[in-house]
Amino acid sequence: MQVPLDTLWREEFGWRLVEWGATQRPTLPWRLADGSGQRDPYRVWVAEIMLQQTGVTTVGPYFERFLARFPTVAALAESPLDDVLKAWEGLGYYARARNLHRAARLVVEQHGGELPSNADQLARLPGIGRYTLGAILSLAFGQPAPILDGNVRRVLARVFAITEDVRAPATEKTLWALSEALVPVEAPGAFNEALMDLGATICIPGRPRCLACPVMTLCAARAQGLQDSLPIMPKRKQTPHYDVTAGVIWRGEQLLVAQRPLDKMLGGLWEFPGGKCQAGETLAECLKRELREELGVEVAVGEPVTVVPHAYTHFRITLHAFDCALVEGEPQAIEAADVRWTTLDAVDQFAMAVTDQQIVAALRAEANRLTTESTES
Ligand code: SF4
Repeated sequence: MQVPLDTLWREEFGWRLVEWGATQRPTLPWRLADGSGQRDPYRVWVAEIMLQQTGVTTVGPYFERFLARFPTVAALAESPLDDVLKAWEGLGYYARARNLHRAARLVVEQHGGELPSNADQLARLPGIGRYTLGAILSLAFGQPAPILDGNVRRVLARVFAITEDVRAPATEKTLWALSEALVPVEAPGAFNEALMDLGATICIPGRPRCLACPVMTLCAARAQGLQDSLPIMPKRKQTPHYDVTAGVIWRGEQLLVAQRPLDKMLGGLWEFPGGKCQAGETLAECLKRELREELGVEVAVGEPVTVVPHAYTHFRITLHAFDCALVEGEPQAIEAADVRWTTLDAVDQFAMAVTDQQIVAALRAEANRLTTESTES
């Protein structure tokens, strides 16, 4: 889609933004250039994948640790997926880590370990969607490729006073076309970064800080007094809620963890096995059924361990964890990728989602309480 933009207007918009960006740019670890002013494409790639669904402040320390652990594409490619998931633990959206790992192996096999600068080749790698493609091409390779994330969507909807739902496919198409028409051949990376920074710091959700904005006099929403009411977002659907159970199956000092199937949500992570309650089931009935189906065992459900509420993007859960004792059968990985016996001290070696980490924390708190009580008596 071609968007006709006045050349002078576009150039003014571009240089104002780039000049502003040069004075405002936050120092972030993934923005460091080498001596020649170039950025390492691998660092840009990892950062963009991490930033897809996670904020800058959270990503900072994860990024540093990840790069220290996997300093090159080759190092990432030759590491087991378990190690990559462990390094990703707590960042959420684990499909990103699985895709990054898979893509690193493809980069080594097909591109000699160098991230390709060709758009078609890059786009074929797992986990690189249209936004990430534009970010890598412009930031790492200096190519005039467009980007559109939440921040950029908001800025463009305001600058062009777009009064349609910004998530509607037709509007999305227009926004991409605008981003493409705006990105300059000179300094496309600096332009795209400034556009993102403007959305993150000045053209913020709710009430934007227009008086500090470098493109205020070019902004249609500001001129029409629409800046506080744009962008138009789709109405939020009510998110469903599920009760979910998890069993901490004990055998003496050992407890059982199961690995989630790779093709499922949170695939490859380890958990206390269990699952979603069906209509009319009690929590104990649900847990017994789930462990029968998943591991082929019969258990006696004991004391509650903890209750963990958690919100995912499209639904919420309340996770009810219980101590369990094996009554019959030896756990097998029927609906799990793997099962292992471990101890409370050694369980940290397994990459776990944040909900299961909270179960571990509750188990440790209880173990400490019991130790203190027995010391005092
Ligand atoms: Fe956003 Fe205000 Fe700048 Fe327009 S003038 S781009 S609404 S901050």
